Amino acid sequence: MTGHRHPPGSGARTAPHRGAPLPHPRRGRLAAHGHSVFAEMSALAEQHDAINLGQGFPDTAGPDAIVEAAVRALRAGHHQYPPVPGLPGLRRAIADHQRHRYGLDIDPDRETVVTTGASEALAAALLALTTPGDEIVALEPFYDSYAACATLAGATLVPVRLHAPDFTLDTRELAAAITERTRILLLNTPHNPTGAVLASEQLHEVAALARAHDLLVISDEVYEHLVFEGTHQPIAALPGMFERTVTISSAGKSFSFTGWKVGWATGPADLVTAVREVKQHLSFAGGTPFQHAVADALRLPEEYFTAATDSLRRRRDLMTDGLRAVGFAVRPPRGTYFITADITPLGERDGMDFCRALPSRCGVAAIPHQVFYADPDAGRRYVRFAFCKRESVLHQALERLEKGLT
Ligand SMILES: *Cc1c(COP(=O)(O)O)cnc(C)c1O
Repeated sequence: MTGHRHPPGSGARTAPHRGAPLPHPRRGRLAAHGHSVFAEMSALAEQHDAINLGQGFPDTAGPDAIVEAAVRALRAGHHQYPPVPGLPGLRRAIADHQRHRYGLDIDPDRETVVTTGASEALAAALLALTTPGDEIVALEPFYDSYAACATLAGATLVPVRLHAPDFTLDTRELAAAITERTRILLLNTPHNPTGAVLASEQLHEVAALARAHDLLVISDEVYEHLVFEGTHQPIAALPGMFERTVTISSAGKSFSFTGWKVGWATGPADLVTAVREVKQHLSFAGGTPFQHAVADALRLPEEYFTAATDSLRRRRDLMTDGLRAVGFAVRPPRGTYFITADITPLGERDGMDFCRALPSRCGVAAIPHQVFYADPDAGRRYVRFAFCKRESVLHQALERLEKGLT
């Protein structure tokens, strides 16, 4: 296995392997990132027949009309590879969505690329736009794939912590984290896991820093439609920002089709081309019938989006009140379908221990915040509950918590 690394006759080919250190340790590049706590908690939930408020996926399907559009696409025979950048009809729908919502003028041919979920767009953007040794500044706690993708790129993730109780960003701390090695500001608003939404003036301050230090911005906006107060504001729409920003979103969270894995990136042609060149060697292209359906989803009437947000806001309020009544310290999140609960008022200290015990103790599963932190200590007292479930299920989960914890 090592022969090709040595010139013939060097003797290395015949060197005994047993006991000798291998040139590469037999562990994957991501071995240090450890196991998935999402898989662990979901397995525990199953084992104990618990209500799974850990992993964030809805327990109801997206709109019927969109399911029908996918069925129609299948019946029409759309089974083969789509074009690498995505179906032209979907790219037009993405560009129209960005124009109509945010006033962004996007060329569907050169400034959009369709990906296998936002996950692939993030991976492709980070791999495309960094070189080894670069620093990526990201808000902490952060979505787990950010650190993994930074490692794959040979780049360093530099965390800037959001501060409890409302998980607010101190832009002076963001400024202090920027060095001459910083290449990218990786934003996520509305923010998973905290549910925080960057305030408009903060977004302007972040934009000013990006311009002053000539940084690229990767903006993960998969929760753009799940905002409970006001409307979502993309950083790409601020002055001087479009040309340095890759904006990422997906159909998963907006339309409750997390398993369809249709995502996209938009931005200036040179950055989008760079993303597409990497994506071409990751998935190449995929999801043809779903791409047809998502083009329709992006053109759903305003009432769909309003009703979806209203329904989620009710469930947010239900969870905020319910978790408070059980004894957690919580604040209502301003976006996403996650709520963060502080366990210390219950006399608990460690979110990981708490979440490992919760399925057997109460019949409910949650995710410990510490897995979203570079420094697990900083997240020890918090756990995340997903509330994208039917109201009856949330009521039942709250009853179980009440019974098991008080
Ligand atoms: C779910 C999620 C993603 C991944 O989106 P997919 O479309 O499922 O790949 C990316 N970023 C954040 C913050 C998420 O919560």
